[in-house]
Amino acid sequence: MASSEIEDLSANRDMTLDKFKERSLKRLEARREEQRFYPIEEADLKTVNRCALCGSVSVARLAEVYLKGELNFCSTSACED
Ligand SMILES: [Zn+2]
Repeated sequence: MASSEIEDLSANRDMTLDKFKERSLKRLEARREEQRFYPIEEADLKTVNRCALCGSVSVARLAEVYLKGELNFCSTSACED
């Protein structure tokens, strides 16, 4: 695939995403719904410190996502075995 074709595909994808985002925002605005937020607490989370496939505890942390820089509410790990 030529580089100009790749650029064209990328541009089309961005336009499609923007179109969907714009439509969603307009729907939200039309409904005039109040935004709802639900707090996440440590007790709401489930921690899995072993591989889901083989059960090994030898896992390497790949990514962590924190809420307000304190509560780690999402982590991704890879099995080392
Ligand atoms: Zn494993």
